[in-house]
Amino acid sequence: MIARVEPLTTARALRGPFDYLAPDGVVVGSLLRVPFGRQELTGVVVGLSETTEVPAEKLVTPKRVLPQSVPAEMVALATWVAAEYCSTTARGLSLVTPPGGAAARPVFWAELRRAPAEGDRLTDRQRTLLDDLARTGPRAAGTDLPALRRLEGKGLVALHQRARRTTLTHDAVGARTTTPPPLTGEQTAALAEIETALAQDHPERLLLHGVTGSGKTEVYLRAAATALARGRTAIILVPEIALTPQIVTRFVDRFGDTVAVLHSKLTAAERRDEWHRLRTGEARVCVGPRSAVFAPLDGVGLIVVDEEHDPSYKHEGDPRYDARRVAAKRAQDAGALLLCGSATPRPESYRALRRLRLSRRVDGQHPPPVRTIDMRGTETALHPDTVDALAASRKSIVLLNRRGWSNFVDCRTCGHAWMCPNCDVALVLHRAGGYLACHHCGHRERVPQRCTECGSMSVARHGTGTEQLEHDLEQIGLPTFRLDADVRDPGAALRAFERADRGVLVGTQMVAKGHDFPDVTLGVVVDADATLRFPDFRAEERTFALVAQLAGRAGRGEAGGKVLVQTLAPDAPSIAAAVHHDADGFLAGELARREALRYPPFATLIKFVCSAEQAAPAMAAATALAEHLRSSGVPGDVLGPAPLFRLRERERAQLIVKAAERRPAVVAAGAAVATVAADKAHKGVAFSVDVDPQ
Ligand code: ADP
Ligand code: ZN
Ligand code: ZN
Repeated sequence: MIARVEPLTTARALRGPFDYLAPDGVVVGSLLRVPFGRQELTGVVVGLSETTEVPAEKLVTPKRVLPQSVPAEMVALATWVAAEYCSTTARGLSLVTPPGGAAARPVFWAELRRAPAEGDRLTDRQRTLLDDLARTGPRAAGTDLPALRRLEGKGLVALHQRARRTTLTHDAVGARTTTPPPLTGEQTAALAEIETALAQDHPERLLLHGVTGSGKTEVYLRAAATALARGRTAIILVPEIALTPQIVTRFVDRFGDTVAVLHSKLTAAERRDEWHRLRTGEARVCVGPRSAVFAPLDGVGLIVVDEEHDPSYKHEGDPRYDARRVAAKRAQDAGALLLCGSATPRPESYRALRRLRLSRRVDGQHPPPVRTIDMRGTETALHPDTVDALAASRKSIVLLNRRGWSNFVDCRTCGHAWMCPNCDVALVLHRAGGYLACHHCGHRERVPQRCTECGSMSVARHGTGTEQLEHDLEQIGLPTFRLDADVRDPGAALRAFERADRGVLVGTQMVAKGHDFPDVTLGVVVDADATLRFPDFRAEERTFALVAQLAGRAGRGEAGGKVLVQTLAPDAPSIAAAVHHDADGFLAGELARREALRYPPFATLIKFVCSAEQAAPAMAAATALAEHLRSSGVPGDVLGPAPLFRLRERERAQLIVKAAERRPAVVAAGAAVATVAADKAHKGVAFSVDVDPQ
């Protein structure tokens, strides 16, 4: 028997699969160590065959079969992802193989057994290890395993193979043990449809369109229970666990150790441990961000995509997959139900999925009134009416989609502007840290004391970011809590705001995620136009979602609440729709606009970026791509090439294909890149392909 093996390597040039003699018991999904040229690689068995074109004397046997394996369906899914997003099979497979490769040493959990006594002779390092362990509690051993072994020998530390699970979620919001509440009428009706779908072999995909606070999570919990009762498993995708630990807590409370949680704060060992629990069937529900769509579960019956409008479902590495699309594919192949949920669904989902509506909040309250504040003629970041409202509200959330102090800095005397040396963008002032930073490449430099061009001492700052807003709010005497990508521990900031009895949570769109603070009575969007100005066909959709989601955060409790939207464009459709809480009207208008302009979901966009040290070769490669695509008759328009701003010391050129038919366009895109990239004339040019760019 021959095993077709795909070696796990990131090299694009190395295209498998390669044939080896199959050891006994090897199946599709087995992991092998195979000799490859002079090296040894880990590979995944992607197929088995009776025949091969490799001559018998050249066929070799793998070095060994690794103890772990990937479910065969996941090998198929990985192959599909690779093709769908113009990547390589090996990169696709890296999404579904056990974390940390197949090195798969068993995980040992270390726990303090007793505190050191007088007689213990310990090195400083050993004392530090013990102190750390006392502070963190039981944790997985990493590279310090040998040191921990020596401490085990002294009777100070216990090591076990079984995890003592300490999920981040329990300390996050304080676990509340719940007996399921009786459902509301709308929840009952939605659940009935979901249960009917779960009983089918190939259920229709569903969209749970429910205003914030309408009890969507409770519906997911019941749906997961039904899937489990039918002997199936469930995947629950959530946007970002650090920001929305409540939903994880609710799943863990309801299902206990049946739940495995995958999130970015897990150590490598913990991640392997959770993967293993899912693979062996010990855990049957997986909750996690986008990568959890690849959870190694058998018999998936339900895939939930919570907050399906959230941009974090798109992966920005290679393959640039969209977890929502992968979820739909996985559900289809497994005969599982895909259940997407949101208060502000994407036009794509609104059109494609059958809709279940939760139009009322569980607590019977109406959504808070949304009012626009016309900022034309106002010089300050906050309108006087906003300041009054903030002073009158005990707890408020203020959203400004721009971090840092001010968004650019220039010289009042000669006009010199401080730009990133690696990218053609302005540097952003971070005053507390005393530096200017590039938000694209991370470049930092010290705040200038004087102009580097003319020596003038007069340096001007323009625009307001969250850091400055925080300062302004503190100046008017409001206790302020900031939440943005510069904050080291977002969870801690949220908890501090939750505990405070008055104050303002100020930050970027992170403040509008699914938090549940019952005592917030005011939401403010500062500069709603920042999102609207974005040169992207999704700008309107994002703006509507942002305002509506913020409205969902305000006025959750008894006291009610309101939302103020500061804008220069009060008549923009997205803002007007948000004021009227008119999701249906907004979505209908947005779909009509997209159909007229042939944007998704009425077309597929594929974006190509060619980058090089110099502008000319980048542009030449993009031009060659455009020619190849046009001459190969790609079914759609080829837009560009156009220069893009320089990023991380690379000059860039961009090309967009707007295609009516997806599959042939993706195939043509992959072929064009393979051909042009292989041409020596374009040596030194890097190519990236993004299907469904965000
Ligand atoms: P959503 O996800 O739609 O924003 P949640 O599921 O977070 O809404 O529900 C809002 C609040 O209502 C939560 O505190 C939840 O525990 C509670 N809740 C949900 N369903 C019910 C119900 N049927 N009866 C009572 N409380 C409920
Ligand atoms: Zn100057
Ligand atoms: Zn930069």
